[in-house]
Amino acid sequence: MSKHDLDSIEGIVDARLCTGCGACAYLHRDRLRMADVPGVGRRPLPIVGITTRTTGEGVDACPGRALSHPPGLLDDAPFRGEWGPILGLYECWSTDSDLRHRGSSGGVVSALAAHAVDAGFAVGALQVRASRTDPLRNETVLNRTCEDIVAAAGSRYAPASPCERLDLVEEAEGPCVVVGKPCDVAAARRAAAARPRLEERVAVTLGIFCAGTPSTEATVEAIERLGVDPAEVTRVDYRGEGWPGEFRVETTAGDRASMSYAEAWGGLTKKRQWRCLVCPDHTGEFADLSVGDPWYRPVRDGEAGRSLVVLRTERGRDLLESAFAHGALDGVELPLERLTESQPSLGATRGAVWGRRLAMLAMRMPAPRYRGMPAFRLWWRLPARAKAGSTLGTARRIVVRDLRRPELESSEVG
Ligand SMILES: Cc1cc2nc3c(=O)[nH]c(=O)nc-3n(C[C@H](O)[C@H](O)[C@H](O)COP(=O)(O)OP(=O)(O)OC[C@H]3O[C@@H](n4cnc5c(N)ncnc54)[C@H](O)[C@@H]3O)c2cc1C
Ligand code: SF4
Ligand code: SF4
Repeated sequence: MSKHDLDSIEGIVDARLCTGCGACAYLHRDRLRMADVPGVGRRPLPIVGITTRTTGEGVDACPGRALSHPPGLLDDAPFRGEWGPILGLYECWSTDSDLRHRGSSGGVVSALAAHAVDAGFAVGALQVRASRTDPLRNETVLNRTCEDIVAAAGSRYAPASPCERLDLVEEAEGPCVVVGKPCDVAAARRAAAARPRLEERVAVTLGIFCAGTPSTEATVEAIERLGVDPAEVTRVDYRGEGWPGEFRVETTAGDRASMSYAEAWGGLTKKRQWRCLVCPDHTGEFADLSVGDPWYRPVRDGEAGRSLVVLRTERGRDLLESAFAHGALDGVELPLERLTESQPSLGATRGAVWGRRLAMLAMRMPAPRYRGMPAFRLWWRLPARAKAGSTLGTARRIVVRDLRRPELESSEVG
């Protein structure tokens, strides 16, 4: 069997198509566990004693291998479906000023999840937070109180696998909110299609916009750039405490250091996992509501945070309207054009995907399969230079970085 067969989880990982979502580890708990590979991301590894490849449900649910919208779903969608299904666009913020300050943007994801629990839509929220035992890494928990939900506010620009703990949702006594990046949400939806009890338990999905997941090594390097020893770090925050806030660390000695969000992201982004470069969904097209930054205008100095909210389903509308009605959120509806104006770099990245896939296939590297998601026309609209970069530049990168080699061949597992 080829090391790059996409019919097994190991083949998907070898082919560098794993996003690290964790769905396969949830679906095959007796075979796989998620582990952090510092220079790569979180990956499913066989548990001790398992020597055969994992096929079946996990492969079917895997968002790294394939993504698709049902035929016809995007026929009448705005932007000819290029940004997924959209029922409305809002600029919102949490009415709790502490949460608004702490959150990545306007604290809206946390406010919506907390409101869902408060109003009885859900019994808990599956969320990522900083690990309590290893501050440079993340963990997934089912938070059942508004206090715990709010404590998990803030983006973690580091590997996280929310779907590995979908068991917590499946076993919960009632419906739950699931929070994740676009690939996490797509995986949760696909896993729910395989497990009826999970399907019943997913009340609503909240997706966060995502330009890519940097490795743990990227966080270590950012900390070292601050002149701090990573071994001494007790807390890492990637942004928040202001909009967009700063990358901040605290140490065992009680020292603090920080750098601007822009400087931190500029370094982190250089170490994104490969699959993110061929990601067709940076804005949570499979979520009920997806949330990002409304960067269609410059942020004023000291301005309180705001989030951009894309309403994608009727389930999402129920939660959003309830959050407005109960005063958990404040905000305004926006013209849809503000979405593309807010995220020009995500639009360009999405445009390059068709060319990058072409280069992968031409270089005999397995590529992810996408159905019902516009690709060619986005690429065609790119300037000539960007088109060449997405094809020839990618082919060059495949050779120079030796990307046809299995991803974990020489990487140390943390
Ligand atoms: C890797 C990454 C890349 C991003 N790229 C962009 C981008 O290009 N453009 C953009 O507009 N926004 C991006 N975001 C989203 C943005 O940083 C904010 O999360 C978003 O605007 C929501 O802010 P908020 O204040 O409403 O959410 P908050 O109230 O702060 O809540 C954030 C929620 O996200 C969850 N979360 C945090 N990190 C992760 C993670 N790594 N995986 C899964 N769940 C997580 C938390 O558990 C929390 O529930 C990115 C986020 C991440 C994690
Ligand atoms: S993307 Fe998710 S489901 Fe696919 S191999 Fe990686 S962890 Fe497993
Ligand atoms: S860029 Fe796409 S594949 Fe990468 S972490 Fe974000 S949503 Fe997942």
